[in-house]
Amino acid sequence: MSIQSNLQNIKSSLPDHVTLVAVSKTKPVADLMEAYNAGQRIFGENKIQEMTEKWEQMPKDIQWHMIGHVQTNKVKFMAEYVSLIHGVDSLKLLQEINKQAQKHHRVIDCLLQMHIAEEETKFGLDEKELHEIFDFIQNNEGSMKNIRILGLMGMATFTDNQEQIRKEFTHLKSIFDTHQNLKSEICNLQSLSMGMSGDYKVAIECGSTMIRVGSSIFGNRNYQ
Ligand SMILES: *Cc1c(COP(=O)(O)O)cnc(C)c1O
Repeated sequence: MSIQSNLQNIKSSLPDHVTLVAVSKTKPVADLMEAYNAGQRIFGENKIQEMTEKWEQMPKDIQWHMIGHVQTNKVKFMAEYVSLIHGVDSLKLLQEINKQAQKHHRVIDCLLQMHIAEEETKFGLDEKELHEIFDFIQNNEGSMKNIRILGLMGMATFTDNQEQIRKEFTHLKSIFDTHQNLKSEICNLQSLSMGMSGDYKVAIECGSTMIRVGSSIFGNRNYQ
């Protein structure tokens, strides 16, 4: 199957309210261009350097989403152009994004990453940490004008157990729903980023509005 037909198959199966992020990490620009020429404009990468190289080479109407873990000292390399940062999991990182966005006279959209999986290794906030960030934002609106928190992101446990995955996505959706009342200029939870190649159908059933799909579009990745 070609990238173009994979993309078309997935897109035609998605409800209108679900945004598809094409996860192109490790893939060459030629592959991304095939998706671009098939109409895809949102690409997700998990390494800032790789994303920046692709941004430099590719058409400028692409929206680049950072879906990986972000180190604070690397925010500056994507602040000029990044469109949405999915993996924000600390106040320190949020403040650095705000600072770098300010330098570029822009507002950077962010999602807060929640820890919903069973595995210890997955990054993300627990609910207490989430509340600490919301409290800080509410009390410091004036100094955080260069970010917008547009939603939440999460990754389910890597398992074949569909019930487990469903339980974790449902939990994230309930956290998302609980915080719908926190509407301000800086915070407005509209997007719920959950679901990858293996679990996006379940994620959509559980309320996802944004799926991050890589291998089902571009084929398996070869890591060295
Ligand atoms: C790699 C990655 C994806 C896409 O994974 P696939 O299984 O290839 O669809 C989605 N989200 C994150 C955070 C990733 O790192």
